[in-house]
Amino acid sequence: MERTLVLAKPDAVARGLVGEIVSRLERKGLKLVAMKMVWMDKEMAERHYQVHKGKDFFEGLVEYITSLPIVAMVWEGPSAVSSVRAVMGATDPAKASPGTIRGDLALDISNNLVHGSDSVDSAEKEIALFFKPFEIYDWKRPGEEFIRGK
Ligand code: UDP
Ligand code: MG
Repeated sequence: MERTLVLAKPDAVARGLVGEIVSRLERKGLKLVAMKMVWMDKEMAERHYQVHKGKDFFEGLVEYITSLPIVAMVWEGPSAVSSVRAVMGATDPAKASPGTIRGDLALDISNNLVHGSDSVDSAEKEIALFFKPFEIYDWKRPGEEFIRGK
C-alpha cells in the first residue's frame, strides 16, 4: 500500500494546528503509520529540500523549516501521495481551494503549514530521511475495508 511523508511545519506547530492537520487526514481515511516530533538542523533541511537548492526561496525555506520543531508523519492508503496533496491544497495558500488545509487555514506561500511528498519515489526517499524502518508500523485499522476497499 502506498505511503507518503507529511510534515506539520513550524507554523502549524506554533499556531496549534497539528491536531487539525492530523484530523483532516484521518477523516479522509488515510492511516497513520509513523509519527514523531523532529527539530531539523540545517543539514537535514537542505537534504530534504535539495530539489529546491539554488531557487530564490531556498535559504528562507531552510531557515523557516528549522525555526521550530516539526511533526513528521507517514500516512498510508490508496494513492496516498496524491490523496494527501489533495487534502493539503495548492502550494500557494492564496490559490488553494477552500476545503483544503492551505485554502482554509493559511495565506502566505512561505508559511503554508504542511509538506506532502510529490511522488512515490520522493516519498520513499523522504520517509527514509525521517524514519527508521522499525519506527513505521504495519497495523490494521478495524473496518478499513470500508475505507480503502478489499
Ligand atoms: N516555497 C516558498 N516560496 C515559493 C515556493 C515554495 O517559500 O515561491 C516553500 C513552501 O514552503 C513550499 C516549499 O517551499 O511548501 C516547497 O515548495 P514546493 O514547490 O515543493 O511546494 P509543495 O510541494 O510544498 O506544495
Ligand atoms: Mg514539494
